[in-house]
Amino acid sequence: MGGTFDPVHHGHLVAASEVAHRFHLDEVIFVPTGQPWQKSHRAVTPAEDRYLMTVIATASNPMFSVSRIDIDRGGVTYTIDTLRELRELNPEADLFFITGADALAQILTWRDAEELFALAHFVGVTRPGHTLSDQGLPQGGVSLVEVPALAISSTDCRNRVGHDAPVWYLVPDGVVQYINKRNLYRTPV
Ligand code: ATP
Ligand code: MG
Repeated sequence: MGGTFDPVHHGHLVAASEVAHRFHLDEVIFVPTGQPWQKSHRAVTPAEDRYLMTVIATASNPMFSVSRIDIDRGGVTYTIDTLRELRELNPEADLFFITGADALAQILTWRDAEELFALAHFVGVTRPGHTLSDQGLPQGGVSLVEVPALAISSTDCRNRVGHDAPVWYLVPDGVVQYINKRNLYRTPV
């Protein structure tokens, strides 16, 4: 599951759990992006903080793990590189790439779309307010999964911290504590 995870929240975790169930996955690897190309307009929190929050959020689930491949590669993250590397590391695995349907629509317009489809099955998760039909996704090769209603976004979590509003229960407890400890998101955006 690819994402910026700035911060990781319960929407991500429910989405991962739901897709794992629907597709009978053995495990879900969370892959925090390096510098996400979709988000170059705003300063993203240092990769190390996003990585650690994702580790904290997933630690209790034996099916969940976190990979540093996109962070350690450095620079802008392209899904094609992520999948090539995951394929090399797991030559026998059936790979599923999970991300938001909004992000998928952008990723799949990219020039390597054909190789992308050869490397993995794509699963787009949607959150409330996004309908399944209007995402601009290509026909075939992509499954869409509606995640049980959790209208949580990282943007809203960051705004809340910036305005001293609580993020308890939107993100795992350990992530609330990590945000406070490291003083993240204090400047309202
Ligand atoms: P931001 O608000 O910064 O864009 P985000 O909440 O969308 O963050 P990302 O790290 O971009 O989080 O998430 C990775 C993917 O997970 C995204 O493509 C997004 O669409 C999807 N996603 C995020 N929140 C939810 C949710 N509550 N339900 C379903 N999918 C979600
Ligand atoms: Mg988003």
